[in-house]
Amino acid sequence: MRTRLRIITLFFTAFILSTGLAFCQTEKTQLPPEATEFYEPVPPKVDPGKTTLDPPSDAIVLFSGKDLDMWQSAKDGSFPKWKVTDGTFVVEKGTGDIQTKQAFGDVQLHIEWRSPQVIVGEGQGRGNSGIFLMGMYELQVLDSYESKTYTNGQAASIYKQSVPLVNATKAPTEWEVYDVIFSAPKFNANGIVTKPATITVLHNGVLVQNHFALRGPTEYIGIPNYKAHADKLPLKLQDHGNPVSYRNIWVREL
Ligand code: MG
Repeated sequence: MRTRLRIITLFFTAFILSTGLAFCQTEKTQLPPEATEFYEPVPPKVDPGKTTLDPPSDAIVLFSGKDLDMWQSAKDGSFPKWKVTDGTFVVEKGTGDIQTKQAFGDVQLHIEWRSPQVIVGEGQGRGNSGIFLMGMYELQVLDSYESKTYTNGQAASIYKQSVPLVNATKAPTEWEVYDVIFSAPKFNANGIVTKPATITVLHNGVLVQNHFALRGPTEYIGIPNYKAHADKLPLKLQDHGNPVSYRNIWVREL
């Protein structure tokens, strides 16, 4: 009887270990992108009021409508090829992401963006850009007014990590506003995360992310995992091939 029990215990231990190993192996390398995309529940729509906010006196203005002097190519540090027009600038397809020359950690960020005026594509292909805090934690920019995609990838999502509480996206003819409070993650001397990054986001004045603790840097495929990095890193904007416009960008260091 005891031997039988031992055999059964052994069998179950082996089973649990092997499934655990199989899970670790499928992570990242074998998962399709769809494995981390969710469609339900859909955040309810909210019609926001009017919003814009001039920079307060202690803000660092990253774009006031004139030039991209505070920015550089994320790839090679050259001057950005994105186009400045009429107090705004527009993603120039294929020229790559741009990032601030200055590095930031904990910040309050105000940023305004507008989807392309000519509606092209659907889902992730319609008005996709992104705001990468510290160059790696993406607050999604997307035309989610009347376009379906996975909810953890729609506008105001923390891409593939957190669905917005509501959908406060305006029609693409209008400007969208994000007000963000971001705290950088903390790491110990061994590079282990001791405090995850947190983010609170207002989309057009409506709370969409409430002190969400990020699980790691944004990953298109697989499960995010923290890797130790500097206390301050540049803010990055994504060239996803769509002509998304930006204006009135400022940060306050916290
Ligand atoms: Mg994006």
